[in-house]
Amino acid sequence: MAHTTSKRTPASLTLDSPVSELRGVGPRIRDKLDRLGLNVIADLLFYMPRRYIDRTRLSPIGSLRPGTSAQVEGQIEMTQLKYGKRRSLLCRISDGTGALTIRLFYFSRSQQNRLQRGMKIRCYGQVRFGTSTLEMIHPEYQLIESNETVAVDESLTPVYPTTGGLQQSTLRNLTRQSIEVLIRAERGLNELLPDHLLNEFTLPELQAAIAYVHQPPPDARVNELLAGTHPAQQRLAFEELLAQYLSLQRLRQATRSHPATALVAKENLSDQFLQSLPFTLTNAQSRAFAEITEDLGKSQPMLRLLQGDVGSGKTVVAAMAALRAIESGYQAAIMAPTELLAEQHFRNLKDWFIGMDIEVLLFTGKLRQAEKQERLNILSSNHRCIAIGTHALFQESMAFAALGLVIIDEQHRFGVHQRLALLEKGKQGDTVPHQLIMTATPIPRTLAMTMYADLDITVINELPPGRQSINTVAIPSSRRDEIIERIEKACHEQRQAYWVCTLIEESEALQCEAAVDTRDYLANCIPGISVGLIHGRMKASEKEQAMAAFKSGEIQLLVATTVIEVGVDVPNASLMIIENAERLGLFQLHQLRGRIGRGNKKSDCVLMYLPPLSDTARVRLDTMRQTNNGFEIARKDLEIRGPGEMMGTRQTGLPELRIADLMRDSGLLPKVHSAAGILLNDYPDRVPALIQRWLGPATRYTKV
Ligand code: ADP
Ligand code: MG
Repeated sequence: MAHTTSKRTPASLTLDSPVSELRGVGPRIRDKLDRLGLNVIADLLFYMPRRYIDRTRLSPIGSLRPGTSAQVEGQIEMTQLKYGKRRSLLCRISDGTGALTIRLFYFSRSQQNRLQRGMKIRCYGQVRFGTSTLEMIHPEYQLIESNETVAVDESLTPVYPTTGGLQQSTLRNLTRQSIEVLIRAERGLNELLPDHLLNEFTLPELQAAIAYVHQPPPDARVNELLAGTHPAQQRLAFEELLAQYLSLQRLRQATRSHPATALVAKENLSDQFLQSLPFTLTNAQSRAFAEITEDLGKSQPMLRLLQGDVGSGKTVVAAMAALRAIESGYQAAIMAPTELLAEQHFRNLKDWFIGMDIEVLLFTGKLRQAEKQERLNILSSNHRCIAIGTHALFQESMAFAALGLVIIDEQHRFGVHQRLALLEKGKQGDTVPHQLIMTATPIPRTLAMTMYADLDITVINELPPGRQSINTVAIPSSRRDEIIERIEKACHEQRQAYWVCTLIEESEALQCEAAVDTRDYLANCIPGISVGLIHGRMKASEKEQAMAAFKSGEIQLLVATTVIEVGVDVPNASLMIIENAERLGLFQLHQLRGRIGRGNKKSDCVLMYLPPLSDTARVRLDTMRQTNNGFEIARKDLEIRGPGEMMGTRQTGLPELRIADLMRDSGLLPKVHSAAGILLNDYPDRVPALIQRWLGPATRYTKV
């Protein structure tokens, strides 16, 4: 093959050589690596294993426990094609201690032919409950000649985060080659941490740590590696946290070096607004608003995080901040993570601001060109407007006449760079808009101070008065009929309910399909009530209609996918059924449940599950039953997350980390802070390199 013959020998490669110089990298693989940001060999070295798998031993099938991962070996007793909702290939194996079913949804004809009765097979995978025996779905497997014995691995195998079509074996192979290059390279990796710091914190050297995590030696301390607490991992985690912290600090400095326009009360719009509300602000809300207005009144950009549990009433505070911008002659933009939420904010603000001569404009991805142009024209000419939207807000074509304030809702769905892109939009010459960032992610203060090091923090620590705590129960799906009766009864008492369909599969299409089926089924079972439907594949106008009908009470039972997870606010809804609750994480359950318990009615949440429950699923459901408090739920979540399951962007809004884990490594944070001070003071020239190494292309946006 042409591209392999032209490759250089490893000895002639350097850490800066393109990955395409490695053996086995053709154009197709190169493109996939490119998508992961892996361009040169050094990038591969800093591409960290997410976890390890232990194939150093074989487990007896009889000893397997659901929820764990294991390597087993056995004889195929039966292979069978199964037709059903989805076609699958089932293969039952046994090793004399027990039987296990291997289930494949994707398989080729030749795979099917080779998985014959009598063959010996070794597989590694996650064990789960199956219909008759325990199962592994799509394990990694290898067929073994029956007279052959194959040794088990000597050391742990790294598992890398990957993208479609890029195999673990490819990544392992490429990192192996990269380490060869590293070992032979004349110029190795730059040690960016000063010696005295390494000594003081007893951290191993960079190069050794890198080689260790990619290729743990056979005598490595397995438990430490699996838990992520090995010194080699800790050293890299330390450096990564330091890079994160420094980049946020630098971002803050960069933003703060720009002027902002002081936004001051001119018309007293917020008082006018407060008088029109059917409630008074809680003390926490008033305090939050006072802190915000103080910031807004300065000619330095506000950088403030508003943290408050679901239902604490962040939206009104945001609306008041937006009014402050308007009365000072500036515009505000509110960015929400889903169309549904953007639409809801749009409707709320339009209602709230009636008679105030304010244009509230909605921008979502599906806007027709003509509509969009019309709104853009207003935005670029009228100062009294508020733009609300999804990420469509930072598209190229957006141009604000005078953006004074950027508000980001449900920050946990956005990355730092999206926020910055919007900020960039609002720049007028050297002047940048103020920023208010809102989140319901309940993380402890010390952690927040590190991971939101660029922001000042305001906490709304109380819920509006009159809230009733939500009564939560867990019920097996076999008692579905009982649950349906309960909905019927509730609806007859003029209560409204959500039925949330969640699926094992990540596919949105399947999730929507299930919601449609469920709607039909429920409408059939409970003839007297009106059942509505909302899912991600409906047109924006259809979704809007469904939400409006639910809000007005026309729809009593709303069947929904997880599109309603964030932000949706219909205070009259007081019953929620969550299907497959055992599959969801605690954060997600808490967010979902946060859709009820918003009014002054007593609310109920039914977590419907498919038994039997794994141990962690049981703890999750128990936790949900025991508390409504976000902080407690977060604490529990962190406690039960297994090693290797890192806190990711999707769930918490904290940055996606490569090797550090904010909770596990929180003990490193004070050291990280002191190291940051030392680097900024004594080695400022190393700071950009450190940030570049760990944050790579993401830092492109930090030049505010
Ligand atoms: P979140 O903080 O989760 O975004 P919302 O802003 O959606 O919460 O507010 C939740 C509900 O509480 C809304 O229906 C809102 O109108 C209501 N609300 C907000 N503040 C108060 C208050 N001070 N008293 C009573 N209800 C309030
Ligand atoms: Mg909200």
